[in-house]
Amino acid sequence: MNFVFSPMPTVSVPVLGMAARFPVHRIYCVGRNYEEHAKEMGFSGREPPFFFLKPTDSLVVVDSAQTGAMPYPSLTQNLHHEIELVVAIGKGGRNIAASDAAQHIFGYAVGLDMTRRDLQNDMKKQGRPWCIGKAFDHSAPIGPITPKAQAGDVDHAEISLQVNGSDRQRSNVAKLIWNVAETIEHLSAAWELQAGDLIYTGTPEGVAAVVTGDTLVAQITGLGPLHVQIG
Ligand code: MN
Repeated sequence: MNFVFSPMPTVSVPVLGMAARFPVHRIYCVGRNYEEHAKEMGFSGREPPFFFLKPTDSLVVVDSAQTGAMPYPSLTQNLHHEIELVVAIGKGGRNIAASDAAQHIFGYAVGLDMTRRDLQNDMKKQGRPWCIGKAFDHSAPIGPITPKAQAGDVDHAEISLQVNGSDRQRSNVAKLIWNVAETIEHLSAAWELQAGDLIYTGTPEGVAAVVTGDTLVAQITGLGPLHVQIG
């Protein structure tokens, strides 16, 4: 096939213990999925899960034992970190029941849903889409994918983020309002999931600003860690 210009290469994420990489289709994100984070954002209660997307090429892919570089983005004075468990879908489907969700999961990674909070808040106030606050270039750092069989009990894993060596976020995946299986059930009712989809499942409390030069270490027990420097 001929193209009028060269197509973009497929975005992919390394897989621990495998030479083959995980080719990325879409990036879905869940909003306000830990109670204490919902509270710090001014909300309470168990609302139905809601979703937004990031462009596939907004990933900053960081191999194990590397420190990734995320450029400080334009337009913002308030770049926030949000550490999140990322689910990598290996088998697509629609209307997937929570009880069947596990068989659709290829593995898990540690991700950062980086957010231009000032722009997101402006958009919220005006009832406008969040894209400019959430879906900007380099907004989705991700570490290597750990295959499901090697990941341990991710649903009860500790999740933590340090900035320049100090704790900023620390919680447990068990505190998700909508757990991974329930999230897949809701998401696959709205979109047909495809192999290659990534789901950022939401962040616990403690979101705050980072500045140029800061080093972030994001960890979830049982998964390869994610190291990123803001530059
Ligand atoms: Mn988030």
